[in-house]
Amino acid sequence: MSSQHARPGPRSIELFDRARRFTPGGVNSPARAFNGVGGGAPVFIDRARGAWITDVDGNEYVDYVGSFGPMILGHADPAVVEAVQKQAAKGLSFGAPTGLEVELAELISTMVDSIESVRMVNSGTEAAMTAIRLARGHTGRNKIVKFAGNYHGHVDALLVNAGSGPLTLGIPGSPGVPASVVEDTLVATYNDLESVKTAFAEHGDEIAAIMVEPVAGNMNCVPPVDGFLEGLREICDAHGTLLIFDEVMTGFRVHPNCAQAYFGVTPDVTALGKIVGGGMPVGAVGGPASVMETLAPSGPVYQAGTLSGHPLGMAAGIATLEQIRDGSVHAAIEPKMTALRDGLAARARQHGVPFMTQGAGAMFGMFFTEAERVTRFDEVAACDLDAFTRFFHGMLDNGVYLAPAAFEAAFVSRAHDEEAIEATLAAADKAFAAVA
Ligand code: PLP
Repeated sequence: MSSQHARPGPRSIELFDRARRFTPGGVNSPARAFNGVGGGAPVFIDRARGAWITDVDGNEYVDYVGSFGPMILGHADPAVVEAVQKQAAKGLSFGAPTGLEVELAELISTMVDSIESVRMVNSGTEAAMTAIRLARGHTGRNKIVKFAGNYHGHVDALLVNAGSGPLTLGIPGSPGVPASVVEDTLVATYNDLESVKTAFAEHGDEIAAIMVEPVAGNMNCVPPVDGFLEGLREICDAHGTLLIFDEVMTGFRVHPNCAQAYFGVTPDVTALGKIVGGGMPVGAVGGPASVMETLAPSGPVYQAGTLSGHPLGMAAGIATLEQIRDGSVHAAIEPKMTALRDGLAARARQHGVPFMTQGAGAMFGMFFTEAERVTRFDEVAACDLDAFTRFFHGMLDNGVYLAPAAFEAAFVSRAHDEEAIEATLAAADKAFAAVA
């Protein structure tokens, strides 16, 4: 299918041929493959700066992937690059504590009200994995409630009805995850408190935690309906269950103080990733000291990592959060987000394409549907996925890089200036014409 399109170009196609010989499916994460948009070679990237990303054939695109979330300042932010370069010159990794870990932990706990204490890890997956082990160890219970369409990384116990990658590839859970590992995972419906109450009516005393994406960003972009997060908080309080917000995607993106500040609902434990590492492989788990002290070496719940708190990741995270903390990054993004979303909707209307966007803070989703709002996974799945595929290729051919799947959110950075937004809307004009 990709051969009908102008992009990717010959160098990407050649690299993909080689990549497939040496890497399963030619990519190191399924979310980068074009399987969800007709297949073929993905675009291979050479470099990026600000809002723009350049492929190995020299094509430039306005980028709405932003490394799937971390790049809220734009690519190659000078302060972040300088911090990493300075630290690299001092040594890459020591296997002993550094001041940088303290600094980033302090910064996180200053910015996120619910967090007093933080454990650094290397990815969002590890953060989610550690969060559920912590909850189970802390409560002495085994069961976890998660939501269909929410994704928490490739953790065995959470890879049940997960979002984006597994949805796009049509894998319900995954071969290789034994049934015994997921028998304590209860799956509820996102934005549907009744389904959670049903799980608690049957298993209330056995449930260690509810794990939720406060804005679901792996089934396109679905904000919580009024009262949903508050209801989860109440259910947890009534049952001695911990509320875990997976803010790997939403953390520092929906709001400078995370989605929990945006919605005014306080979780017990927060999983962080993406922005917290400023583009480096960093994750973090945080919460009140009373819960976090359950982790080794203070407490009995084991967790460790050779490269955890990696100096380069810490340096990038600090340089990123320091710019976010005063709110100026989000304040700068807000009007651009409005111009972009309004502009896309207007162009879709002009071409008679059923389309709407929804989002929160600096993330949003595009839906090819007549519906005014989409709140549940089955509604996301009912959108016109073929229309998205045509739109995706229309945008790519006209210089806009979207995530190659209808189930991914789009990310806007501080670097998305007027020129980038105008280029996006001009491309959308052509792409919607191809959909109509
Ligand atoms: N949790 C959420 C909400 C995510 O969106 C992701 C990744 O997209 C993860 C966890 C896993 O993070 P990572 O890919 O860094 O392991």
